[in-house]
Amino acid sequence: MPFSKLGLAKHILQGVQSMGYGDPTPIQLRAIPPALEGRDVVASAQTGTGKTAAFALPLLQRLDSHGKCRCLILEPTRELAMQVETALRDFSRFTNLRIGAVFGGVGYGAQRTALKEGVDVLVATPGRLEDHMQQGTVRLDAIEILVLDEVDRMLDVGFLAPMKRIIAKCPKNRQTLFFSATLPPEIADLANWALRDPVKIEVGASRSVASLVRHGVYQVEPAAKFDLLLALLGELDFESAIIFSRTKHGADKIAKKLRAQNHSVAVLHANRSQNQRIEALQGFKSGKYEVMVATDIAARGIDIAGVSHVINYDIPQHPEDYVHRIGRTGRASRSGDAFTLISREDFKKLAAIERFIGQRIERLTLKGFEPKPAPAPIPRDTPPNSGASQQGHRPRRRRFSRRR
Ligand code: AMP
Repeated sequence: MPFSKLGLAKHILQGVQSMGYGDPTPIQLRAIPPALEGRDVVASAQTGTGKTAAFALPLLQRLDSHGKCRCLILEPTRELAMQVETALRDFSRFTNLRIGAVFGGVGYGAQRTALKEGVDVLVATPGRLEDHMQQGTVRLDAIEILVLDEVDRMLDVGFLAPMKRIIAKCPKNRQTLFFSATLPPEIADLANWALRDPVKIEVGASRSVASLVRHGVYQVEPAAKFDLLLALLGELDFESAIIFSRTKHGADKIAKKLRAQNHSVAVLHANRSQNQRIEALQGFKSGKYEVMVATDIAARGIDIAGVSHVINYDIPQHPEDYVHRIGRTGRASRSGDAFTLISREDFKKLAAIERFIGQRIERLTLKGFEPKPAPAPIPRDTPPNSGASQQGHRPRRRRFSRRR
């Protein structure tokens, strides 16, 4: 079904056309009609499914023309707030609606001026929004549409309490659109509290990884990990690659070593200043940097079209993060490759990820980096284990009792 059959007005369709979109994605098909009717929507949709347009198009149509600040969109990170603000500006090109954004890490001046001049849609991160509310530079009493985006990540970064305070300040008779990649019980409870008789939408299994992504895992001795990364980058025909590190310090170290090998590298993590983060993202998007090294929280939900490869230098700590990381590639029907580097200590985490996504990840080897066989800790005084240890399983360590 084309966009023109979803009940969208001409000036909104023009905005969609100018973005070069083809047909609507499943989340757009299912969320736009009820949202246009004013219904509350709770949607679980993995990242990269086109959910920004799924909430942006109906809200722009319902706001219609310039007035008070009537729509609030909450985002968990500055990067997402900026990205959604840009998308809203693009979609609203053929309307007279004004879009504004408030987020931390930058000065208050320009945000105050924009708020004073009047915005119809405000995209905000909770902390900075509450600062503005305390300073009296923003009021939520005219909010008609509230969008809670990436709610699971809001909770991960500790925004549950501020988010609830903000929701409580919005008028009760509003429309609420609620998006989360996963809907565990605590998030479902929050949705029950914040929404009225919502239409429930689940796009794909929230645990599934983007189907167009080919993914694999390389087992490597910890000491050879960086060399494998280098060899992999050398072998791959990549346009742009994101490398995930578990820690900020680790990300800096990988970036430094890659630069020493003449790779052009951007770094994205929470310890970098807002200007550094903007420069990193813009440089990566424009092609100035071919590689971006990032931590999970900083990179969550960020839309970078055409990321050809994701490399998990460190295996994700939580299985859901695997799905989010892989979501960076293969966005909106592009295909991509995703590789994870593991050592023997990571086998349990890998098994948890495979259980979570319901799929086995292909084991790959790169010439010269074949993993050493696991040591065989079979004590002499026990009968030999007849079954050889299976690949991918860590043989159980036995304790030797000391003989006198
Ligand atoms: P999102 O999940 O909203 O971050 O969207 C992921 C990417 O898909 C963005 O680059 C969007 O511009 C793009 N996109 C969203 N909807 C469509 C569509 N119907 N057709 C083509 N691309 C789309």
